[in-house]
Amino acid sequence: MSEPRDAYTIHDLRNWAAATADLDLPARLAVIGDPVAHSLSPQLHNPALEATGAGCQYVRLHLQAEEIAEALGLLEGAGFLGVNVTIPHKETVFSSISDVTDVARRIGAVNTVVVENGELIGHNTDAPGLQRAIREQFSVDLTDMRVLILGAGGGAGKAAAVQCAMDHCDRLVLANRTEEKAQALRGELVDLMTDPDRLEGPSSRLTAIPWEPKALEREMDQIDLVIQCTSLGMKRTDPEVLPQSLIQPHHLVYDMVYSPPRTRLMAAAEAEGARAANGLSMLLWQGVLAFEFWFNREAPVEAMRQGLEAATGAS
Ligand code: NAP
Repeated sequence: MSEPRDAYTIHDLRNWAAATADLDLPARLAVIGDPVAHSLSPQLHNPALEATGAGCQYVRLHLQAEEIAEALGLLEGAGFLGVNVTIPHKETVFSSISDVTDVARRIGAVNTVVVENGELIGHNTDAPGLQRAIREQFSVDLTDMRVLILGAGGGAGKAAAVQCAMDHCDRLVLANRTEEKAQALRGELVDLMTDPDRLEGPSSRLTAIPWEPKALEREMDQIDLVIQCTSLGMKRTDPEVLPQSLIQPHHLVYDMVYSPPRTRLMAAAEAEGARAANGLSMLLWQGVLAFEFWFNREAPVEAMRQGLEAATGAS
């Protein structure tokens, strides 16, 4: 019996029983991505599978975009309970599945697939995972928060914005390097931010701004929570996301980046007396929610947290 390989391919999936015959437990869950070898999802889910005695394991599947449709069609026959989806396939999987949840439809991206009675159901647990992470890190709910999303043009930024709007946040300010994408997202969220019980219309509660210091400065007094949704901060040479002088002690700063564990933005926030957290908690909670969709039972959160902490060296 042996350990699973770093990543399996479409060729393996076509003959899954033979490709995984040497494993001590059947591989019935996977993360699909390109690249995927860096994904921490096995370290998050395998401790949960072990803790619950699920009798199966979680592996990585390295797939190209043109292999996605075939791969989805092979899952049930290969005995899969479901898969997670990571960059760059979340939108492709969304377009390939007809049965998706409202949240996934709003975001246009699927990060969790459940195989159920021969059907595939597409979920997005990034958005509610962020909601849980904010609650855990800052003891606040998105409801009633005034939120600035940095990177509102990418998939993660869209998931964050949709969740904030669905949770009826008080104010939502969208900023993105390519401003047109933030404007487009604003248009998609107007209905969610229109509250017939409020006197003011959606325009005062929902706005898209250019990502530049002057425009950001005008907003920061009326912001409680900043959510950083770009990949900036992963490399030491990355530019500053937000000028430090704009951060105020009352701000809560959530950086979706978790490697390094203390990002430059977090350090800047803490230097200004603000509270800050990295994106590891979002990774944890999107996984917890995925596990609960696959098994229809409560996930062993602490086992998953310990798995992630061991994998990242966090504690
Ligand atoms: P994506 O769809 O490729 O979007 C990238 C976003 O970053 C876009 O808004 C893009 O702006 C912006 N961006 C990229 N380089 C930039 C730069 N130099 N200056 C300013 N903006 C820049 O990626 P994604 O899926 O949204 O992921 C974004 C980040 O979130 C990644 O680091 C990912 O690992 C992280 N993430 C974390 C979690 C978690 O669980 N913690 C979950 C999902 C994602 P333009 O539109 O102008 O290109």
